Amino acid sequence: MSDFNQPLSGNEMPRFAGPASMFRLPVATIAADLDVGIIGVPLDIGTSNRAGSRYGPREIRAESVLVRPYSMATGAAPFDSLQIADVGDVALNTYNLAASIERIEAHFEAFTAADVKPVSLGGDHTITLPILRALARRHGPMAVVHVDAHADMNDTMFGERETHGTIFRRAIEENLIAPEKMTQIGLRATGYSAEDFDWARKRGVRVVQAEACWYQSLAPLMEEVRSTVGDTPVYLSFDIDGLDPSVAPGTGTPEPAGLTASQGLEIIRGVHGLNLIGADLVEVSPPYDTTGNTSLLAANLVFEMLCSLPGVRRRG
Ligand code: MN
Ligand code: MN
Repeated sequence: MSDFNQPLSGNEMPRFAGPASMFRLPVATIAADLDVGIIGVPLDIGTSNRAGSRYGPREIRAESVLVRPYSMATGAAPFDSLQIADVGDVALNTYNLAASIERIEAHFEAFTAADVKPVSLGGDHTITLPILRALARRHGPMAVVHVDAHADMNDTMFGERETHGTIFRRAIEENLIAPEKMTQIGLRATGYSAEDFDWARKRGVRVVQAEACWYQSLAPLMEEVRSTVGDTPVYLSFDIDGLDPSVAPGTGTPEPAGLTASQGLEIIRGVHGLNLIGADLVEVSPPYDTTGNTSLLAANLVFEMLCSLPGVRRRG
């Protein structure tokens, strides 16, 4: 018997029954003695095109009932290794983006104060900025692995400095990120200008455009990422639109010819061995996810994030 929280088994209660907490884990409060908290951040008022990611956490939880506790690929057993719970959602002010950003930061500060690692379900990508602000106060400038179709490095959008398309520019300006230890993977499609990806490149960020990923394994790239990151605390931010719309159509700003589902897994598995201090899966928009496949894939990607955390045992 494990001393850790275990997901409710599909052989004890049918998967379609019972409360749809993330991975059918117990629901806990921040006060509980946890290693990892899975938290929903149902914000979508920072998005520039299709909305709907406010429903992301709820639908990812609903599809996560099919995820079982052991990785058959890596042998990882996160629920036998760490105390993990679903810690509910951040109470946003859905009428006010700036107020919501403040609420998210305060909420995540409570996590870091309690030494609980956050794994977050978005929500649009705006949520990552206040999360990084909270984590940087504890860890200093972090390494970042950022999967996305977009750089999210705009200076402003409609004159606004804090949106889902400006977060990483703010994070670098605020010294939350060590840019020479940041890698962006999957960027593609069309830009506001031909120089869109250069602001980050000039500051040392490694930009791996989707075309450089086509037709190949990303395991060698991740080996290079690991050697660049070294011991630096690293945050993984996974925008589902980094993947191709054929596998992840349920999102707000889809771009053709993205990464495959297996390349997404390779990236997440590739951060194993690093000092991963938190992760997020953002931009799932269930109203555009008519089959539920985007949320199902997202739930599996979040499971892989748990598997890549330090301290997770592997069969071996
Ligand atoms: Mn993004
Ligand atoms: Mn994106």
